[in-house]
Amino acid sequence: MNDVSLRLNGLTKTYLQGTPGEVQVLRGIDLELQAGEAVALVAPSGAGKSTLLHIAGLLDTPDSGNVEIAGQDLAGKGDRTRTAMRRQGVGFVYQFHHLLPEFTALENITLPQLANGVSERDAQDRAMSLLDRVGVAQRADHRPAALSGGEQQRVAFCRALANAPRVLLADEPTGNLDPDTSDQVFEALMTLVRDQGLSALIATHNLDLAARMDRIVRLEGGVLKPVE
Ligand code: ADP
Repeated sequence: MNDVSLRLNGLTKTYLQGTPGEVQVLRGIDLELQAGEAVALVAPSGAGKSTLLHIAGLLDTPDSGNVEIAGQDLAGKGDRTRTAMRRQGVGFVYQFHHLLPEFTALENITLPQLANGVSERDAQDRAMSLLDRVGVAQRADHRPAALSGGEQQRVAFCRALANAPRVLLADEPTGNLDPDTSDQVFEALMTLVRDQGLSALIATHNLDLAARMDRIVRLEGGVLKPVE
């Protein structure tokens, strides 16, 4: 069955940079992610990894090419449509958790749902079930400062999935953790990807983690190449 949640088609992006002139960062990116598929994105520093993730997540626009999420082509769509899809269709995870410090773990996951029109009860139920899935339900009432680094990242994953997106984009999601914690937190992330049937594009420098995903693509010279 063909169940593509994220399709990138012919993406190009060039930046104009003062004296050295232009940098053509993306030269024709094609990628399809099936529902439930986790793909590792590896790239040397400066290769355009952030640019690619931002365009895929509708935070930036390509010079040409298409981004399709859950079967909807977002190229050429207005800001409102792109913003709505970004809020509902895409979850982001970064190296740092970016949780709101004055709110509890639970509140950090309910707030994006309330903003999306979900009732408080349903939002709390979903938040608790996500926290439970990644093993931090007993920490739900703690603020981020009272959580370990690994717990903070697990909560950040739940927050990214609060509004049940189809696509998860992650930039070094365990890059800030010690190796043992990183391993466990990565497993928690993969549990969520499988459970929720997400399409996940996960940038990492950690080749052991990359090898545990369904496949690996390398961004080099502005194009994606499969890694055997
Ligand atoms: P990575 O995340 O792989 O380190 P980036 O996507 O951040 O790479 O950047 C790729 C290249 O594009 C770099 O050479 C960077 O200097 C350049 N670049 C990124 N963003 C901009 C921008 N807004 N304006 C000009 N050049 C940029």
